[in-house]
Amino acid sequence: MTDDIKSMLIPEIETLLKDLGQPSYRAKQMFLWLHKNRASSYSEMTNIPKSLVKPLEEKYPLRGCKISRKQVSAADSTVKYLFELYDGEFVESVVMKYKYGYTVCVSTQAGCKMGCSFCASTVGGFRRNLLPGEIAGEIYEAEKDLNINISHIVLMGMGEPLDNYENVMRFLELITSEQGHNISMRNISLSTCGIVPRIYDLMQKHLGLTLSISLHAPFDDMRSGIMPVNGKYHIDELLKACKEYARKTSRRISFEYAMLSGVNDTDECAIALANRLKGMLCHVNLIPVNEVSESPYHPSSPERIKKFTQTLEKRGITVTVRRKLGSDIDASCGQLRLRHTEGKH
Ligand code: SAH
Repeated sequence: MTDDIKSMLIPEIETLLKDLGQPSYRAKQMFLWLHKNRASSYSEMTNIPKSLVKPLEEKYPLRGCKISRKQVSAADSTVKYLFELYDGEFVESVVMKYKYGYTVCVSTQAGCKMGCSFCASTVGGFRRNLLPGEIAGEIYEAEKDLNINISHIVLMGMGEPLDNYENVMRFLELITSEQGHNISMRNISLSTCGIVPRIYDLMQKHLGLTLSISLHAPFDDMRSGIMPVNGKYHIDELLKACKEYARKTSRRISFEYAMLSGVNDTDECAIALANRLKGMLCHVNLIPVNEVSESPYHPSSPERIKKFTQTLEKRGITVTVRRKLGSDIDASCGQLRLRHTEGKH
């Protein structure tokens, strides 16, 4: 990470510029170019001396996100990008329009190690972690392309954010920086499949973001069957960390629950889920599972989802059902993947 200038904070840029004989105020200029003006080349930086461009390009090449493909949903104008990274890896990102503004769903890794059986992001395996500047780059390139300002971020694209912990923490620092994009932490959601030790690390930081937990089942055998990570961190352990997180940060936790017909959508599951979450500052977000060609699941019927919702609500749990956006372009939850490996474009 150390030589990636787009991943650096101002004091770090200051050090590298000092080595190139530059005054310290240049570091802030550079940061503004990278994170406020979303520059993708040194030559765009008009107040940086021309003589500096070449040495910078040689020593600190800007690692961009190149739009390799763009798809616009005919149904709801959701946009999905396939970005090519500097080393030929690919990730996908999705921009959604809501009443309150634009939300981007970013990837934090190329591929994923977690192996959840309902998710396409894991199908091609794990390639590598994204750098902080690359995660920010997904946002900047989409904004430039669409000529918009993004106000909300969800870390719910490809990859497991807490499996790329340091880089994701730095990304949060960059994107919320007042000298950069200045997005409010309150407008950021981080979703995890449940890497328990990192949840404890995260709560120490007291960030204002929303923590989402991909729970998907109230019983260990059921959860382990669909999410291998549960073999390492059981539900009890995970929910203990969540309770602690909510208590320490006073932030409501959002539990994601993909509705898999005939698997995890019975009344018994709803009752067990409500019992598990009793007394916690939380919210349940039901997601009718999006079909992925490699996995056998189908979404629960609207009637089943309604009944499941009522069972939870009767027990004092607040519930929303996630609206599906961008399904005609495979841009919905769990449908982002290493698309280039399949020769589909
Ligand atoms: N690795 C992180 C973030 C990426 S997934 C995590 O696991 O939370 C974002 C959300 O989409 C997660 O809740 C994930 O479980 C859910 N998801 C994955 N595949 C899905 C599918 N096919 N249908 C609906 N939701 C899915």
